[in-house]
Amino acid sequence: MTTHTVNPLTVNIAEVHGIGPKTALAFRRLGIRCVADLILHLPMRYEHELAEQSIAKASEIVSPHHGSEANIAVCGEIATVRSSRGRHSRTEATLEDDTGTLKITWFNAPWMRGKLHPGATVHAWGKVKRHGDYMEMVNPRWEYANADEPHSPRGEQFRPVYPASEDLSSHVIEQAVLEVLDPTLSQLEDHLHEEYRKQRAFPTLAESYRMVHRPQHKDESAHGRRRLAFDELLMMQLAVFIKRRHRRESLIAPSLKHNAAIDAHITARFPFTLTNSQQAVISEIACDLSQTVPMNRLLQGDVGSGKTVVALYAMLMAVAAKHQAAMMAPTELLAEQHFQSISQMLSGSKVTIEVLTGSLTEAERKNILKRLADGEIDILIGTHALLTESVRFKSLAVAVIDEQHRFGVHQRAILRVKSDDVSSTPHMLVMTATPIPRTMSLTLFGDLDISSIRGLPPGRKPVITKLVTQSKADEVYKYLAKRIEDGEQAYIVVPAVEQSQRELKDVQSHLEWLSQGHLKGKRLAQLHGRVDRKTREQIMQDFRAGDIDVLVATTVIEVGVDVPNASVMIVEHADNFGLAQLHQMRGRIGRGSKKSLCVLIADPKTDDAKARLEAIVSTDDGFAIAEMDLQIRGPGELFGAKQSGLAPFRVAQLPHDIELLRLARSDAKQWIEEFPSLKTHRDDLLKKRLLKAYGEALGIGDVG
Ligand code: ADP
Ligand code: MG
Repeated sequence: MTTHTVNPLTVNIAEVHGIGPKTALAFRRLGIRCVADLILHLPMRYEHELAEQSIAKASEIVSPHHGSEANIAVCGEIATVRSSRGRHSRTEATLEDDTGTLKITWFNAPWMRGKLHPGATVHAWGKVKRHGDYMEMVNPRWEYANADEPHSPRGEQFRPVYPASEDLSSHVIEQAVLEVLDPTLSQLEDHLHEEYRKQRAFPTLAESYRMVHRPQHKDESAHGRRRLAFDELLMMQLAVFIKRRHRRESLIAPSLKHNAAIDAHITARFPFTLTNSQQAVISEIACDLSQTVPMNRLLQGDVGSGKTVVALYAMLMAVAAKHQAAMMAPTELLAEQHFQSISQMLSGSKVTIEVLTGSLTEAERKNILKRLADGEIDILIGTHALLTESVRFKSLAVAVIDEQHRFGVHQRAILRVKSDDVSSTPHMLVMTATPIPRTMSLTLFGDLDISSIRGLPPGRKPVITKLVTQSKADEVYKYLAKRIEDGEQAYIVVPAVEQSQRELKDVQSHLEWLSQGHLKGKRLAQLHGRVDRKTREQIMQDFRAGDIDVLVATTVIEVGVDVPNASVMIVEHADNFGLAQLHQMRGRIGRGSKKSLCVLIADPKTDDAKARLEAIVSTDDGFAIAEMDLQIRGPGELFGAKQSGLAPFRVAQLPHDIELLRLARSDAKQWIEEFPSLKTHRDDLLKKRLLKAYGEALGIGDVG
C-alpha cells in the first residue's frame, strides 16, 4: 500500500487536465466540484453518429442533382475561414481532405468568429447539400480533432449527451469525463462481490460507469445503467430490511390482549355497525397488537371511509390493557374534532381523554402533561404539539398518526420514543386518505404493512361534482340560498384569508359580499387558521348543531371535519388547489343521507389545472384519483424527499424500473435474513456505502 495515494475521486474539478478556471466555474455551477461528481453526472441520452467518410465518397452519396442532400460525417483540415459581421452574421470555411473539398457555412453564429483557424483539423457531421459542382454543410456539429488521435477516419459512434448549461456544453463535459474516466475507474472498488454479480449478470461498478459514459453501442449503455439503477434500489431496500429487522428483533412492544369479550366491550361504544371492510382491517390490527413486535402499519381508506373508529379500536385495546394511546392530527381543527367525536363515543365510560394543541394556556398544558406522565390520561389527542420534548407518557402502547402524508418520517420517529417506559416501543398506526400506488408502497413505505378500507359506510349518496366558470357564480349562489332554505348546510372554500395582491377571493370580503347579497339573512360564519381556539370550537359546535348555515372557510376544513348535515360545497378558484386536496375537501360532504353537491368555480388557465379539474369531476374514487395525481404530478412531488426522508434517485426511475426494484427487494430481504447486519467480511464496503447513503435518514447509524 502506498502512503501518498490521493483518492482520484476527490480531486478538484479545476485540477483536471484541460479544465481552466472559467470552465471549472461553469462545472461548479452545475454542481460538479470534484471528479466523483463528474463521474456521477450521467448522460441523459445518446446520439448515434455515422462513420466518417472521405469527402470524395460523401460526394458520391449525394446525387448529382442540384439540391439533393444526405447526412454525412467527415474529417479534414480547415483551409480558409471568412466571417461577415452584422445582424445576419455568417462564417464560411472550406474543409479539405486528401480527396476533395467541402464548404461549411454557419449562419447567425457570431461565436464562431475566431474559433476556427486555417490548418486546424476538425470532425464535422450534419446534412450536406449539393449546389451544382460543390457541396455545402450548413450549421454542422463539429469539434477539433485530438492532436494525438490517429489521422484515420472515425468509425460509427454512439456518443453521450450530458445535461449541460449555457456556458458548459455537453461536448466539454464529455471531454472532461474521458480525461478522468480510466484512471478513476481503475481505482474504483466494487461493493457487490463477484459471485453475486455473475449470478445477476451485472458488470462491475467500474465497468458500469464506463458503459454509461463511453458505450460501444446502445445495449451497453443500457446494461451499465441497469446495474447503477439496481445499486440505488438495492441500497434502499437493504436499509428498509435492516430497519425492519431491527424493529422485529430488538424492539419490544406491549402485547395487548384481544378476545371476544374485549371486542364486544369496544364495539359497544360505536354508534353503528362496522362494515366488513372495517372489521377485516381491525382483525389485522388486533393481531399485530397482540404481538410483542411493534406494529408498523399504514391504514389507507378513502375520505369518509371510517378510519377514525378503526384507530379508536386500536387505542381502546391499549387502554383495556392498562396502557396509554396517542393520536396525532395535522391541524388543530381536526384534533379538536377527533377529541369531540371520540369523547362522545366514550361518554359514560371510565376512559379519560384529553386534547393537546398549541393554543392551550400554560396552566392547562402543565396539568395535562402531569396527568399524562402519571398515567392518569388514557388517550391523548393532539397536533404536532405532541412531539414537544416535555410531552411524556407513562406507558404509551399505541400511537396513531392521522393524515400521515402531512407529516414526515422524522415525526413518526419522535412519537415512537415518547414513553417513559423505555423498555417498550409503541405500536404505530399511520392513516391516510391518499392511497399509495403499489410502486411507491414498495419503496418509501417498504417498512410498513398496509391495510386498506374499501368502499364507504352504507347509506351514503354519491357526491355530484360540477365545474362552472366564474361567470356562473351568481346562479350558483342563488341555488345555494334555496337549498339552505330547505334546511341544508354548506361550506364555501376560498383560497385566501385576507385580501391579497393576487386576485383571489378571500374569506373576509367574500363573506361580506354574500351576506349583503345572495345569502342575505342567512347565518354565516368564517373559519380559517387565524381564528382562535375558543371561537373556532364555538363555531364548529354551532355548525354541528345547525345554528350556522354556511361556513366560509379556507382549506382548514380540508381534513377531518365531519358534519353529516352539510351537503353542499362551493369551491372558489378551484384551479388553485391540488387534486388530492380537492378530493379531500369534497369528502366533507356526502356524509349524510342528503344528495350532496360540490360546485367547483374556476376558469383554469394551465393544462395541468384543466386536467386536475376534469379528473375530479370524472370520478369520486380516491384510488383512481391518486393514480391520476401520480400521472399529472409525477411521483417526485407526491412523495417528496421531505416526506420520505430519502434522497431522490439519480439513476433509477419508477415505475419504469419496477422489475429491478422487485429484484432488489427480494435479494435485500434474503441477505438480511441470512446476514442480519451485513456482518460478513466481504460486505464491508457495501455496509460503508449503505451507511453513508441511508444511515442518518433511516436512523440506522448504529447498525453494526
Ligand atoms: P375518514 O376515513 O375520512 O377519517 P371518518 O372516520 O371521519 O372517515 O368517518 C366518516 C363518517 O362515517 C363519520 O361520521 C363516522 O362516524 C361515519 N362512520 C364510520 N364508520 C361507519 C359505519 N360502519 N357505519 C356508519 N357510519 C360510519
Ligand atoms: Mg379522518
